[in-house]
Amino acid sequence: MKKNNEDVRYAVRDEAGKYLPPFPVDPIALTEHTREKVCKTTDGIYMRKYTRFYAVGVYGGIATAYSVGCNYRCVFCWVDWSRDWPEKSGEFYNPSEIYQELRQIMRTQGLRRARISGAEPTLCPSHLLGVLDLVHRDRNIFDLFVIESNGVVFSQDEDLVRNLKRYASTNRDTVGHVRLSIRGGLPEPFEEKTGCKGEFVELPFIAAQRLWDANVSFHVAVVVDPRFTSEEEKQVIYDKLSDIDKTVKEGVEEEYLDPYPHALVRLRAVGREDVTGKEISRVEKSMLRERPES
Ligand code: SF4
Repeated sequence: MKKNNEDVRYAVRDEAGKYLPPFPVDPIALTEHTREKVCKTTDGIYMRKYTRFYAVGVYGGIATAYSVGCNYRCVFCWVDWSRDWPEKSGEFYNPSEIYQELRQIMRTQGLRRARISGAEPTLCPSHLLGVLDLVHRDRNIFDLFVIESNGVVFSQDEDLVRNLKRYASTNRDTVGHVRLSIRGGLPEPFEEKTGCKGEFVELPFIAAQRLWDANVSFHVAVVVDPRFTSEEEKQVIYDKLSDIDKTVKEGVEEEYLDPYPHALVRLRAVGREDVTGKEISRVEKSMLRERPES
């Protein structure tokens, strides 16, 4: 991977089906590069970039803070161009501002649930813990606070997992909960789906084991859509989760993917016309027009 993460946009394959550089990438190195763009500390306060705040119907209605920046480059990713151009997207917010934005939405919409989504929420751990601390203090007005993660940071940062259990525990009075996404179980399809080198396929399983060992409240979401995951790979994923504990496997949320507008552009760039269709749709053209200059 090149030193500057401005070069890590979305994966593209050539006519022979080979990834163009810098793909496949190292997700640990991409974590560090993305942090330089989306995390900062000002006067001792931990800031993170976000683009917007809204409510959606999933989880029975939930207030959402849409954060910027990820350390994967999934080819079916629905997230807008902020994932690939983090330096050009969003504004920095401190934990208290995020908390207030979410509370405002909860108040006006009559909701008791909130989450950080849109990218990889764990990229700026101190900022995330700051938000969780505020939520925990007011936990009587929350049913649930969801952290949606691909697990790379959890696999590398034991301190984060240790701290997390104060706010998202299976055996304490907490409202935090991790939704851990597992994209692949075998190196080659993992690389195809995430744009990350196959050798890193185990990281989300290491994360699942750590969360389990620490009694963190979590469940695993697995992409089982047959367009992306074969039966053989699905079985490998389920076997690995069963090795942690059978309840981890039993609690899996199975994911089928909708071709959202940005996903269509990304899928076409890696030659997945079986999913996008041959013709470039109007919505896809519109996403291409919105794409920042490199
Ligand atoms: S982990 Fe999620 S946000 Fe990150 S690239 Fe994959 S689908 Fe997009």
